[in-house]
Amino acid sequence: MSLDRATIWPYEDGEPGEYYYSRYASPTVVEAERALGELDGGHALLYPSGSGATTALVLGLLKPGDTIALAEGCYFGTGVAFEALGRWGLRHVEFDQTKTPPEGVQLVWLEAPSNPFLTMPDLEAAAAHPAPVVVDSTAATPIHLRPLEHGADFALHSATKYLAGHDDALLGAVVCRDRDAADALRRFRTVTGIVAAPDPAWLLLRGLKTLELRVRRQTETAGILAERLRGHPAVETVRWPGIGGLISFDVADADAARRAETATRVIVNATSLGGVTSVMETRARWEGDRVPAGLLRLSVGLEDPETLWRDLSGALE
Ligand code: PLP
Repeated sequence: MSLDRATIWPYEDGEPGEYYYSRYASPTVVEAERALGELDGGHALLYPSGSGATTALVLGLLKPGDTIALAEGCYFGTGVAFEALGRWGLRHVEFDQTKTPPEGVQLVWLEAPSNPFLTMPDLEAAAAHPAPVVVDSTAATPIHLRPLEHGADFALHSATKYLAGHDDALLGAVVCRDRDAADALRRFRTVTGIVAAPDPAWLLLRGLKTLELRVRRQTETAGILAERLRGHPAVETVRWPGIGGLISFDVADADAARRAETATRVIVNATSLGGVTSVMETRARWEGDRVPAGLLRLSVGLEDPETLWRDLSGALE
C-alpha cells in the first residue's frame, strides 16, 4: 500500500467518488482500518491518538449525566480524560475489574491487562452487564486477546504502542463489533474532525506486518525477566499477567527506583510501551501516590533476553 497524503480527490463526472475530502475518509487510513478490523474481528476506526479514541468514543456514545464504570488501576490518563470531561456532565466511578461491574452505569470500561497494575478483567461478568463494554486492549494486542469474541462491544487501542510498534507514530483505534455502531461513530468522527492522518496509518500498516512476531517474542522475553525478577533480592512485588511484554515491579522506595531507572544502559529510561526498544520508568512521576513509590514499569523490546537481564540486574545492584 502506498502512502496517499492527499486531502482532496477530483469528483467523478461532477459527483463525489469514494474519496473526496480526507476528513470523511482517505485510502491509507481506510486500508489500515481494514487490516486492524480483520485482526480484532470487527469494524475499526482510527483516531489521532489512543486518548483521542477514548474521547471520541465516550462523546459519541454517552450524554451528560451518564456514568462510566472504570477499571481501577487502568491507564491513569483515561481517568484524567474522564475527569476533564466532567465539566460536560460525564461521570465515572472506579471498580475492581476482576469482579462484576456496578449497577446503574451506562458504559463499562475495562483494560486488558491494566497499565501498570496488570490485572486482567472478568470479561464474562462484564459481558453480562446491560451496558456496552469497552476493553482497552492496548497491552494485550489482538495477538493475545480479541475482546469482541468475549462479548465486548468495543476494543480500544493506543496504536502508538504495540500495533505501530516502533515509537514513531501517535495513533488510536476503536474496533466495533457492530457495523451500525461503527457507522455512527464514523459520522461523529467526521463532523468533530477527530480524524487520523495518513502517515501514522501507513506506519500502522507497516507495524502490523510484524506484530505477531514482535509480540510473541516480547511475551517470551517478559516471561523470562519476570521470573528472574521474582527471585531478585532487591525486588518486592512482580506483576506480569502471563501475556504481553509489559511488566511492573516494586523496589524498596522512590530512591531505589530512581537509581535503577537511571542505571540501565540498554533499557532506555523513557515513558510509553510497546516499541521494539525496551523502556523502563518509575510511574510515581506521572501517577503520584496512586502507585507505589518504588514501582518501575518495564516494556520489553526485542533485544536479546540475556543482554536485558544483565542490564536490569546490574541496575538493581
Ligand atoms: N491506553 C493505554 C493502555 C495506554 O497505555 C495509553 C498511553 O500510554 C493510552 C491508552 C493513550 O494512548 P495515546 O498515548 O496514544 O494517546
